[in-house]
Amino acid sequence: MQIPGHIDPVAVPRAPTLREDGRVDLVGLSKDQIRAELEAAGLDAKAAKLRGKQIWHWVYNRGATEFAQMTDIAKAQHPFLADHFVIGRPEVVEAQVSSDGTRKWLLRAPDAQDYEMVFIPDADRGTLCVSSQVGCTLNCRFCHTGTMRLVRNLTASEIVGQVMLARDSLGEWPSQPEGRLLTNIVMMGMGEPLYNFDAVRDALKIVMDGDGLALSKRRITLSTSGVVPMMARAGEEIGVNLAVSLHAVTKEVRDEIVPINRKYGLEELLQACADYPGVNNARRITFEYVMLKDKNDSDEEARELVRLIKKYRLHAKVNLIPFNPWPGAPYDTSTPERVRSFSNIVFDGGISAPIRTPRGRDIDAACGQLKTSSEKKTRAELDRLAEEKQAALG
Ligand code: SAH
Ligand code: SF4
Repeated sequence: MQIPGHIDPVAVPRAPTLREDGRVDLVGLSKDQIRAELEAAGLDAKAAKLRGKQIWHWVYNRGATEFAQMTDIAKAQHPFLADHFVIGRPEVVEAQVSSDGTRKWLLRAPDAQDYEMVFIPDADRGTLCVSSQVGCTLNCRFCHTGTMRLVRNLTASEIVGQVMLARDSLGEWPSQPEGRLLTNIVMMGMGEPLYNFDAVRDALKIVMDGDGLALSKRRITLSTSGVVPMMARAGEEIGVNLAVSLHAVTKEVRDEIVPINRKYGLEELLQACADYPGVNNARRITFEYVMLKDKNDSDEEARELVRLIKKYRLHAKVNLIPFNPWPGAPYDTSTPERVRSFSNIVFDGGISAPIRTPRGRDIDAACGQLKTSSEKKTRAELDRLAEEKQAALG
C-alpha cells in the first residue's frame, strides 16, 4: 500500500548542508568524522587524532562556539581552524514561553525550512522534545504536524543542534552530572524518527557520549507511530527507551487514525514490541494513547487494551494523552470522566495508565500541535489568494 504523504517516506540519508563559505559545521559530526575532516584540512593523522579529541570535548562537553575558547589548543592554530570550520547553532526565528513555563522555539535551516523544539520544565525533571523531520509524511488524522505540506529529514547536525541550543539557553555548559535542568530527551517533536533512522541514531549517539552531552540512554525516549521493520534496529543500535503511538486497539480504528497501520498491522506491531531488546519490568515500553471522543475512548476498548498487553506479555505502561485540539481538527477531546474511567480499567488490569497533563497549549507547544508558523502563514496566504480568486470570479 502507498503511504499517504508528500515525498517517498523511506529514510533518505541527507548529506550535511554545505555552507556557502565552504567551511564545515562540526556540530553533528562524530569523533571519527571530526578527525577525518581535520585530516582533509591538512593535519597529519597523529595531529588530527589529538586535536579531534580536544575539539570534541570543547564542542560537546563545554559548549564552545569559538576556537579561541579552546585554551589547550595553541593560539597559533585557532585561525587555521576558524578558516576551515564553524561550530554552528540552528537559527532561532522565534522563542515563546507558555504561562506554565513550557518554552517553544521555531528554528530555521539554511535552506529556509522551519522546525520546532519544546522544553517542558517539571518539578523533578526538564524534558526537551526534539524534532526529527520538517513535517511528517504519515498524516495521522489527529496530528497537526501530519498536515504540513513540506517534509524533509533533518540532518544529524540539526538534531544535535536542538539539544546544544537548549543547553545554551538554559546556561548548562559544561555538562554536569548533577543539578541539570535539561534531564530528559523525547524524540516526540515533528516527524517520525524511524523514517530518519541514520540521522537520529548518529545524533543520539553524540548526545549519549559520556565526554559529550552525556545524557544517559535511560533518559532518552524515542517515539514511533509503528515503523515495525526499524524497531529492532532502534533497540540494537540506539538502545534508548521506546514509546509506541498505539492510539487504538482495533484494525478499523487504527487504520483510520494512524494510517501506517494499513502497512504494519497491530499484531506485527505488538510482536515487535515484545521483541524490543532490553525491555524488562524496570524498563518498560510506553504506549501512547490519545483520547478522542467517541472514537477510541470506550470502556470496551480499555479492556481490549489490557487483553492485548497481556496476550503479548508486554512490560508496558500506557500514557493517556488528552487530545490537543487545533483549528480544523476532525476530532474532539474526550470528557475527563471518560478518560478517568478508561484509566481506571487499565489500572485495574494491573497496568499503569497515568493521564498526561497537556503542557504549553497556549503557545501551540502541546503534543501534536507542532506545525511551524511559517507554514501557517503559507496556508493563510493560500486562503487569501483563494478568496481573491473567488472574488475575481464572482
Ligand atoms: N511521530 C512520532 C513522534 C511524534 S508525535 C509518533 O507519532 O510517535 C508525539 C506524540 O504525540 C505521539 O504519540 C502522537 O501520536 C501524539 N499526538 C499527535 N497529535 C496529537 C494531538 N493533537 N493531541 C495529543 N497527542 C497527539
Ligand atoms: Fe507523524 Fe507522529 Fe504526527 Fe503521526 S503522530 S503524523 S507519525 S508526527
